[in-house]
Amino acid sequence: MRQRSQNGIIVRKTRYRESSLIVSALMDSGELISFIFKGALKSRSLISPRIIPFAVLKFTFYPKPDKTIFTASDVKVVEDFGIADADFQNQKKAAKFINYASAAVRHGDKIPEIYEILTSLFRQWRAIHGVDERILEAGFMLKILLFSGLKPALTNCAVCGKELSEAQRLWFSPSAGGFICERCPKPADSIKTDAKKALAMEKLINTPFKKYDKLSIANPEILFDFTKKFWNYHIGEVSGAKARRKNTYSRG
Ligand SMILES: [Zn+2]
Repeated sequence: MRQRSQNGIIVRKTRYRESSLIVSALMDSGELISFIFKGALKSRSLISPRIIPFAVLKFTFYPKPDKTIFTASDVKVVEDFGIADADFQNQKKAAKFINYASAAVRHGDKIPEIYEILTSLFRQWRAIHGVDERILEAGFMLKILLFSGLKPALTNCAVCGKELSEAQRLWFSPSAGGFICERCPKPADSIKTDAKKALAMEKLINTPFKKYDKLSIANPEILFDFTKKFWNYHIGEVSGAKARRKNTYSRG
């Protein structure tokens, strides 16, 4: 059997039987892979101190086409973002972004940009400390939606495709796929807004996270609400409570 090594970030850790651990990771190839670490929970395990969250890990494993969980033989810490050493609030916040990223990757998908968005967010973690969390979350979702091929229509009507001037971007509908012109029928989930929201969304997509504090965005709660509704419709709800049950972000 040939071994393979690849970088990834842990999205979930589950105990398996007496002393084994199943780890799901978002890989740099943009896919989700599950590994089993046999005996990792034994007290004398040399490997478990290196199976850490909020870090880029290099997994060495035996890929088998007929298996959905690969046996891992080793893991090394490539880049530790230092979030696991921060307080609980920071870990909870970081875990939320991991949940968004992993929710957007379906079985069989390969979207390397999602891995890149997550790692770039974690690399900028200190710089984004003061950014409004709703702005950060909305921007993170929008960037992921873009690379998932699900970017909301912002400059053209989502229904008829007609170009919308800035002043015409007034109706937003998650189910229609973004902003709609005045003439097209409005689905039940359409929300009337002001012309600034589409521009703000465009800015969040095109600006690096660490520069978000330079953007002046009015009503972040509305922008977050729009983006979240769009995300829930196209990707599915990411429940915080469920995420907490599934994840065990403890070291070793
Ligand atoms: Zn239209």
